[in-house]
Amino acid sequence: MSKYLSEKYQSLEVYTPGEQPRDMRYVKLNTNESPYPPAPGVVEAVARQAGRLQLYSDPVSADLRDALAARYGVKRENVYVANGSDDILNFAFMAFAGNGSRAYFPDISYGFYKVFAELNGADYAQIPLREDFSVAPADYMDLDGFIAIANPNAPTGMALTRDQLEPVIAASRDHVVLIDEAYVDFGAESCAPLIEKYDNLLVVQTFSKSRSMAGARLGFALADKGLIEDLERIKYSTNPYNVNLMTAAAGIATLREDAYCMQNCRRVIETREASADRLKAMGFEVLPSRSNFLFARKPGVDGGMLYRELKARGVLVRHFDAPRISDYLRITVGAPEQMDVLFIKLREILEG
Ligand code: PMP
Repeated sequence: MSKYLSEKYQSLEVYTPGEQPRDMRYVKLNTNESPYPPAPGVVEAVARQAGRLQLYSDPVSADLRDALAARYGVKRENVYVANGSDDILNFAFMAFAGNGSRAYFPDISYGFYKVFAELNGADYAQIPLREDFSVAPADYMDLDGFIAIANPNAPTGMALTRDQLEPVIAASRDHVVLIDEAYVDFGAESCAPLIEKYDNLLVVQTFSKSRSMAGARLGFALADKGLIEDLERIKYSTNPYNVNLMTAAAGIATLREDAYCMQNCRRVIETREASADRLKAMGFEVLPSRSNFLFARKPGVDGGMLYRELKARGVLVRHFDAPRISDYLRITVGAPEQMDVLFIKLREILEG
């Protein structure tokens, strides 16, 4: 840190992304990427734009937003797009948290919520997950401030139904309720159909997981026109060209072949269920996942040790050294062959 950094950022605890090491080829099950390549047609669409890079991208992202609007049965005015959903989460905390009230989110959830609250100077409270690691809607009913809930939650993978979340949204009409649906396509229920009914609901999704586009950085939000205008106000005060030419083209091409992506989600779900069974057969406790990862521990076995031993054997998973979850591993559901390697190495470590 230099002496020039503004005082307000000096105590910021930054988010630690999953590692992307280059020292060897790993079986990479640590950042919830898709094991499948982008939709056919994406490469060609991106290549076409690569030859036009002297031009700025469309600041309105009209074609991409129209494609998303058609896919989700809403209007362009209900869709916001950004450079990854992290950008949208940041903007949402900037726009809707603070304001003399607190921001609320679960204590065990996506680590960026806390960082964005701090970055944007919003006071916040973290609501403990229940004993079984569930988000209890009842705990969010009497709050007076911005609420962010990941559904499915990360790193647990557990999800609530739309009917369970609707009362939270309905009880909080003076504040925005953000439902982060980064993993929703892997078997959870989206709250998107509720945006017509609740002008305080902001649904955030991403192309990073279910649509195999993590490297392109494309996130989107669905909400009432008013909230979309608020996000655009911030975008036009920071970076109007926040979705680049190649990413916009990749997004449109992907939506044209959305059946391919949704089929991949079904493959991941199948592999997830089979992998959960294999883990349980080895004595692991596995939380019920509706995402593209599994959160599991083996009673009596140190999670940090398992993580390190797997890494030494070329398999990367995610380990969080935090209260209540330090014995758990978050394992991205990869292709079946990748999972086979994981299980071979796990057996080696546990039996060897
Ligand atoms: N929300 C959750 C819950 C996540 O796990 C992630 C991925 N790290 C994101 C949002 C951000 O995804 P992206 O910026 O790639 O859209």
